[in-house]
Amino acid sequence: MIEGTRQAARPVELDQPAVGRVSRIDAIQQQKMLEANRNAQRSRIQLVRSALSRFDDGEYGDCPGCGECVGYARLKARPESVFCIDCQSSRERG
Ligand SMILES: [Zn+2]
Repeated sequence: MIEGTRQAARPVELDQPAVGRVSRIDAIQQQKMLEANRNAQRSRIQLVRSALSRFDDGEYGDCPGCGECVGYARLKARPESVFCIDCQSSRERG
């Protein structure tokens, strides 16, 4: 009984090589996530820059697809939007 208790109280021994593998996979996944994040940020910056230049050209808010207004609600939600919701979704459909 006492022997059994002592066994249970022993610290859990970690399988060191396995732990090393897991944290390496973790690190790689984290790095990939950061990179994807960075790429997303980068393309958003591009969109914002191009929105600003359309603003300078007096074209901001005009959809280049149909020439209509992109729409206040859409611009408010995503100020970097280039196309109106209709043109954007038909572009995404391909
Ligand atoms: Zn449009």
